[in-house]
Amino acid sequence: MGKLTVQLPDAQYDVRIGEHVFDLLSTDYLDLLESADRVGVIADEQAADLHLPVLLEALQKSGVEPFIKIVPQGESCKTQEVYFECQSYLVRENFTRNSILIAFGGGACGDLTGFVAATFMRGIKFIQCPTTILAHDSAVGGKTAINLPEGKNMVGSFHQPSVVLFNTELLRTLPPREIRSGMAELIKHAFISDEKWSVMLLEEENFTKPAEEWLSEELLKGIRVKADIVAADEFEHSTRKFLNFGHTFGHAVEAVCGFGGLSHGECVVIGMAYSFILSERHGKINPSFTNRYIQFARKNGYSFEPVLQHSFSSFLVFMEKDKKAAFGEMNFVMLEELGKPFVMKVSSEECEQAFLDLQRRIRMGEQS
Ligand code: NAD
Repeated sequence: MGKLTVQLPDAQYDVRIGEHVFDLLSTDYLDLLESADRVGVIADEQAADLHLPVLLEALQKSGVEPFIKIVPQGESCKTQEVYFECQSYLVRENFTRNSILIAFGGGACGDLTGFVAATFMRGIKFIQCPTTILAHDSAVGGKTAINLPEGKNMVGSFHQPSVVLFNTELLRTLPPREIRSGMAELIKHAFISDEKWSVMLLEEENFTKPAEEWLSEELLKGIRVKADIVAADEFEHSTRKFLNFGHTFGHAVEAVCGFGGLSHGECVVIGMAYSFILSERHGKINPSFTNRYIQFARKNGYSFEPVLQHSFSSFLVFMEKDKKAAFGEMNFVMLEELGKPFVMKVSSEECEQAFLDLQRRIRMGEQS
């Protein structure tokens, strides 16, 4: 079982990863549960169908009878309607400022539950129990949010969990697309922190069919990168922006394809190819590396089709709306070299050149 502690100026919490981590609810984190007058589980429908009994059994061993609120699976739970439903549910069940919530699901359920916890009676404690690979990223760092029809993650807050319990046994049921999605955020953590690790992942034959033990160790490395960055810049004034590597263009792809078309991580993979092209211009990334990355992504089942199917202007609209955009110029995270990120403003003209370059590289890759 892996462990690390996220150290923040005003708080600290553990992240535990591996099999049987829920057993810790009746040992290391029993006091936390016992300090609450009520324990509520907000669970993703699909994750609950597959795995909720594992958590409930562990809670029972700690003498806890939780209240359970099942929410629609995946992104469809991050709505205003579901958010207020959860709040009303907690009021009806007499939750108080001394109650605690447990998020049981992927990043979407974690974001929703975190935001419910951040705002219920001006803030209560919550525990993250992520059930997807991608959630190794989202469960740590305290960003919580729901979506508006106008855009993703538009309403949210920073609210750190009390502990993150990442049970890797639950990942066995993830479909290939969700594995690809989560592995994308893992390799992003490598790209922004460590050249050797990046190369090791690029050479990994089973990148999208990872063995459980190997995956646990890799996820712990990814969480460590995230935890260190969050510890240095909790509220994203500076270096936390590095975690957005691949996300400015990636979010635009997600929006153009309609949320749900490609998974979040699949879009980030496209976004990272785009950022590598910008990094060739402003950093020291070699074009041959970008081509190799595109080849690696293709080989592992990631699609670049949206870049060929849509015009630059469709993506630009969304890049300009990005929370990271400022005064007509867009901020991109780039790499000086692997492991050395920086942020730079880019004009829309240059964004278009990079887009055309990406289209050309993808077509070139198709022919080879
Ligand atoms: P998700 O939560 O939408 O889950 C994806 C799908 O997997 C859903 O259909 C879900 O029902 C299913 N699922 C969950 N666990 C499963 C399991 N063990 N077996 C089988 N199916 C399972 O997707 P995600 O990729 O985990 O998270 C994406 C969300 O995370 C987005 O909303 C994104 O904005 C957010 N996010 C947040 C942060 C942050 O810092 N807060 C960072 C990255 C992403």
